[in-house]
Amino acid sequence: MRNFDYQKAETARNAVELAVRHQGAKFLGGGTNLVDLMRENIEQPDVLVDVTNLSDRIQETESGGLKIGAAAKNTAIATNRTVLERYPFLSQAILYGASGQIRNMATVGGNILQRTRCYYFYDEAARCNKRTPNSGCDALEGFNRIHAILGTSDACIATHPSDMCVALAALDAKILVESANGNREIAFSDFHRLPENTPHIETNLQAGELIAAIEIPKSDFAKNSVYRKVRDRASYAFAIVSVAAALETEAGSIKNVRLALGGVAHKPWRALQAEAMLIGTPATEENFRKAAEAELQAAKGFAHNTFKIELVKRIIVSALRELTEKGAAN
Ligand code: SF4
Repeated sequence: MRNFDYQKAETARNAVELAVRHQGAKFLGGGTNLVDLMRENIEQPDVLVDVTNLSDRIQETESGGLKIGAAAKNTAIATNRTVLERYPFLSQAILYGASGQIRNMATVGGNILQRTRCYYFYDEAARCNKRTPNSGCDALEGFNRIHAILGTSDACIATHPSDMCVALAALDAKILVESANGNREIAFSDFHRLPENTPHIETNLQAGELIAAIEIPKSDFAKNSVYRKVRDRASYAFAIVSVAAALETEAGSIKNVRLALGGVAHKPWRALQAEAMLIGTPATEENFRKAAEAELQAAKGFAHNTFKIELVKRIIVSALRELTEKGAAN
């Protein structure tokens, strides 16, 4: 690990000023991913700006949504009463991720910015376009069981590892960003990027920009929601595939639906095509399957992960079936 300087920011403004003063500085939240990457020499910042003193408040907004400070711990969000009542799949997604100890350290800002767990990305002996641009990608012809099936490119087939982000994508969250040039909001679906030819550029955050908070809009139907995750171990394992689903039906027809997928792409994958097909149709297993088929039509499997295509379709159907039954019972 390379030597680095450490600065502690007292406010978001102070953090942004420190980032301007120290070009190439990295913001440090709970350190549950960044410190690992520094140990492996994948990240080598000269300066770390500790942002754990920033707001960790979880508060209702005037419009009935929820604003979560970037320094809020994953555990605090998962156990927040409003989250449990109005957005239960966000709590489930967080609790399905990592371990209790890591969730107690990890912040919401860091969770959004965590990097892929592609084995080759962590192996200095392997070719990886994300670690070293234009060096090649050993996952393409290698062991790619955990890799992406949607939105891949010839340069990279890595997946985004976060569970929490899958639920946030389904909720149409916004990311509130501060920088020396002012503040702006980024729609969650526009925040992470697909790999294309630049897999080393993972988000649309600009240099010096800091995630200050996230905002989740009011939702009257996300209380009927579920997060389903398929993984290799019962705990402390990343998703092979996952789905965050919310559903509202009226007289047996689908009035509102949200679907986002994890473990399938370089970003949390909002299943917009499936959602559009489902709105206004009877909430039947046949329609769930048709919508899942349509969403996965563009999916492309590699030597070891083609099984994911059918698996995702099945968990979409299964999650929507569960929500239909739960919705009818309430
Ligand atoms: Fe690197 Fe992406 Fe290829 Fe993995 S899939 S080796 S992260 S370029």
